[in-house]
Amino acid sequence: MSSLSKQVSSAFFILLITACFPYCLAARNIPHSSKLVVKDEIDSTIAFKWHNFSRFTHATPGRYTSGLSELKRYFHQFGYMLPKSGFNFTDEFDSELESAIATYQRSLGLEITRQLDMDTVSSLASPRCGMKDSSPSSAHGRLFHGNRHYTFFQGMPRWERPNPVTLTYAFSPQHMTDQLSSADIRAAFTRAFARWARVIPVQFEESPTYETADVRIGFHSGDHGDGQPFDGVLGVLAHSFSPEDGRLHLDADETWVLDFGTVQAHNAVDLESVATHEIGHVLGLGHSSLKEAVMYPILRPRTTKVDLANDDVEGVQALYGPNPAFKFNSFSRQSQSASNLAVGQWTKVPIRLITASLALALALTRMH
Ligand SMILES: [Zn+2]
Ligand SMILES: [Zn+2]
Repeated sequence: MSSLSKQVSSAFFILLITACFPYCLAARNIPHSSKLVVKDEIDSTIAFKWHNFSRFTHATPGRYTSGLSELKRYFHQFGYMLPKSGFNFTDEFDSELESAIATYQRSLGLEITRQLDMDTVSSLASPRCGMKDSSPSSAHGRLFHGNRHYTFFQGMPRWERPNPVTLTYAFSPQHMTDQLSSADIRAAFTRAFARWARVIPVQFEESPTYETADVRIGFHSGDHGDGQPFDGVLGVLAHSFSPEDGRLHLDADETWVLDFGTVQAHNAVDLESVATHEIGHVLGLGHSSLKEAVMYPILRPRTTKVDLANDDVEGVQALYGPNPAFKFNSFSRQSQSASNLAVGQWTKVPIRLITASLALALALTRMH
């Protein structure tokens, strides 16, 4: 390849990434979080332990790449890989890793390339829920019929109570956060519970007694005694347990916010979005492979995703049946207009690409 064509390829690649990256975010940005699209801020939002995965985009099957064992440990943590012997993962890009990548790509709704392509690495480097992703091959897991992307836990556990079900919830008196007022946290959870209660015959009531509440919510740091230690800023944001356990834990080391307009931190995480997602687990839903779904495992900083997608509704109704007062048709129309809005953002991508390409062509013409 000539020097000029190398320059052209490199410049175009940089422009392509610059043009596309802001629109690759899995969730919708709220309007006043538009500062997120500033490139420096994006780079710093992923500057935590998984950011190193970006250097694996050139890893080749059959070859050794220094540090690849870290990626294998990630895949093990989220249910994609078993160590061959003990926990001694090697740095070899072996067939097990290739298989884990393919399963991950299927579970996250990515193109199945079996390679560590840009999309896959970007996804791997993103903050996410600490719950394992359900195996697509599980008999009780992902349903591939139609357009269903939702999953359940093994055995499809749900809260076995006579309908209509009322579940109580409470906040741990010892494990709250001082980043937000108690009233704001309660209000966020009230809204999050209400979204699920609207579509299924399950009601939620706050209980004054933490120990006996069905759903027990707390902010915890590091190792907090349930065998699933949190990892500090970003990385894992929260986790919860399948029915009828009821524990819902948020990583106390995150910068939790309810309004990005009042907090400048690039690593701020929307509490209400994470609460809505974790309540889905508490009710019995696993992760969805649909990026628009609340139950998609990834939530990038400074993004909000609180509205249930059709996939979330269908999944939770498969467990509990529909709320008699709920009308799916009107909900679908609302979801459709919301997704049209999201698609509208994507239409900006080709425009940015065309603009970037034209600018590049012009610059090259002037060089000669
Ligand atoms: Zn989750
Ligand atoms: Zn925990």
